[in-house]
Amino acid sequence: MNEAFRRIFGAYPDGVWAAPGRVNLIGEHTDYNDGFALPIAIPQNTFLAARRRRDGRLRLHSAQGDGPVVDLAVADLVPGVVTTWGAYPAGVVWALREAGHRVGGADLHFDSTVPAGAGLSSSAALECAVAVAYGDLYGLGLGAPELALIAQRAENGFAGVPCGAMDQMASACCTAGSALHLDFRAGVHEQVPFAPEEQGMRLLVVDTRVKHDLGDGAYAALRAGCEKAARLLGLAALRDLAPANLARAEPLLPAHLVPLVRHVVTENARVAEAVSHLRAERVAALGPILSAGHASLRDDYRISCAETDLVVDTALEAGALGARMTGGGFGGSVVVLVDDERADALGAAVTGAFRDAGYQEPHLFQVAPAPGARRVA
Ligand code: ADP
Ligand code: MG
Repeated sequence: MNEAFRRIFGAYPDGVWAAPGRVNLIGEHTDYNDGFALPIAIPQNTFLAARRRRDGRLRLHSAQGDGPVVDLAVADLVPGVVTTWGAYPAGVVWALREAGHRVGGADLHFDSTVPAGAGLSSSAALECAVAVAYGDLYGLGLGAPELALIAQRAENGFAGVPCGAMDQMASACCTAGSALHLDFRAGVHEQVPFAPEEQGMRLLVVDTRVKHDLGDGAYAALRAGCEKAARLLGLAALRDLAPANLARAEPLLPAHLVPLVRHVVTENARVAEAVSHLRAERVAALGPILSAGHASLRDDYRISCAETDLVVDTALEAGALGARMTGGGFGGSVVVLVDDERADALGAAVTGAFRDAGYQEPHLFQVAPAPGARRVA
């Protein structure tokens, strides 16, 4: 990182920071419903070599972006002025200023091992790397949750993506060896120890390498549907509907909103169930919860697709304890919990099924709960 930075910007950086991607174990599309989620950070990181500047200029370069250095004046940052990948990092500087922090310019060079657009939150990794680096470079004294909310504000308000807070909270607040139990209404989180490998299991990620276009508009429509359903039920958010009251609520809703509500309510219950199993070290019990979560996203929320369904079905046939799509939907990645001894055959089965279906080869890798955003050099 240091040499690359010097080649690009002509001097050595002040330091190097890293922020991870994430895999959500359970709790999908719950963040904007004031609900719960249980992500882990993955060992793939976006690294950021950064150097503070005193002239108010923000210069951005990425080993993954094919363009030249993006050169901006911090004082001119307003939503809409950056339309490339640079909107994510520039948005963080904008969001810090919007929140009243006195921050200036910097030279930033990124290099990432988080696959982009794979549902593993490369965008949050990019933002959180900037947030944590700026926190140090400008001595802001902000904690991880505050940095995460700055990063989310950047994605919403500057990059124009109406996401909830889950991805940024995961990238900023996760710790090695634990899943992060998030409560989006209370704004609190707790670390839940999670070590599948200590119990003879593995957590695999299968990146299908597909991203179907309908994703963007569909997200806003789903979110609006949830908000409308909550309004019709007289609730502040769908989080306030208990599973026991679901049957009574359904007749009060238009038919097309019923499955959305059912997903959110049952998904929040699945998070609670998963957390109680992990607290009791019953890792294998997570399996059926993952699979039930996938069925809910496929049949009720309807954001799965042929490729993610094929991974889940093939993994379960090959003896997985459980599997589900993870992330916003319409492609992306699948997370699989499997016993050690079945993992290799499962990988071969998934790859073979993709070949038979004529899909491009998926990327398979093992993950374990990794640390959140931090300074590394
Ligand atoms: P995800 O967050 O699931 O990976 P998104 O669509 O939210 O998918 O974010 C992907 C976008 O983030 C990319 O199209 C690119 O604009 C930006 N991005 C992520 N990582 C990098 C990187 N290392 N360098 C440049 N841009 C990146
Ligand atoms: Mg993203």
